[in-house]
Amino acid sequence: MDGEKQTRDELIGLVRALRAGVEFEGENFAHGVLPLTGDDPGARAGCAPAAPVLAAPPPPREKPAKKGSGAPAGGVTLSLFGDDDRAVAPGARAGATAKGKEHGKVVDLPQWSDQKLKTDEAAATLKMLQDEIGPRCTRCQLAKLGRSQVVFGVGKPNADLVFVGEGPGEDEDRQGEPFVGRAGQLLTKMIVAMGLERRDVYICNVVKCHPPGNRDPEPEEQRVCGKFLERQLDVIRPRIIVALGKIAAMYLKGITDIPKEKFPISKYRGRFERYQGADMMLTYHPSYLLRAPSAKKEVWADLKAVMQVLGLKGSEK
Ligand code: SF4
Repeated sequence: MDGEKQTRDELIGLVRALRAGVEFEGENFAHGVLPLTGDDPGARAGCAPAAPVLAAPPPPREKPAKKGSGAPAGGVTLSLFGDDDRAVAPGARAGATAKGKEHGKVVDLPQWSDQKLKTDEAAATLKMLQDEIGPRCTRCQLAKLGRSQVVFGVGKPNADLVFVGEGPGEDEDRQGEPFVGRAGQLLTKMIVAMGLERRDVYICNVVKCHPPGNRDPEPEEQRVCGKFLERQLDVIRPRIIVALGKIAAMYLKGITDIPKEKFPISKYRGRFERYQGADMMLTYHPSYLLRAPSAKKEVWADLKAVMQVLGLKGSEK
């Protein structure tokens, strides 16, 4: 009898343990709020939660949804900012249109073509676009305001990951390549930390000419030159676009009629949005990180979310 009682007690204990485990998982996973991985630097450092961990693999490429049709596609909701500010998993329309309407007019962008080009085809098509712009483009006033050259873009012509900034700085104007100054060197370090090299990604800007005094590109300059950015992205067709800073984020979200001071990128960073056929992550510009190094951990969290989607493990160095 003692043996039977012992067996029964063990079974009861097992059932209780199982129930406790199920309840624990229910509390932590019910709303898609996932625990941080053990290697999360924010967790180690006792910081605020850093990178979200995606529960599901990235969805297959889909045909671009009609802009404005943005119904959430059932993606896992990830908590980065607390209950009232949630990121949305890739593949879901994160409300670029809805959020844009809260902060300004949303402009319809042209839809992407269906096929991703092979590397050589994409390279040739980008070269045609660069030739169309020309080395002495005068389509907007930046041509007359001291630029040395048109800075088109650099990197893999059909990259899965594209970084978009606002415009070339002085170093970029001199060298003819985007993100080569101090901010660019920081971006390069971030790319390497992701386990990539610059040649694995594509890097470009909303406007291709250096605005005088490093001022923001004006709306009309963005409107004119941004069409070339849209066509670049249409050729490259990345899986993910990382918009660096407010200007790029606002342009790619189609927000055109409010001053950048009214666009709180601190609120919108860290979540996936949609841009045509790509998922888009908004984050801080590297030049902001030079002024506010404490924000690096937030950018790293954003990039870790990108890495998760792309299946990148990060640098082993
Ligand atoms: S910024 Fe763009 S549109 Fe303006 S002059 Fe330069 S290349 Fe042409």
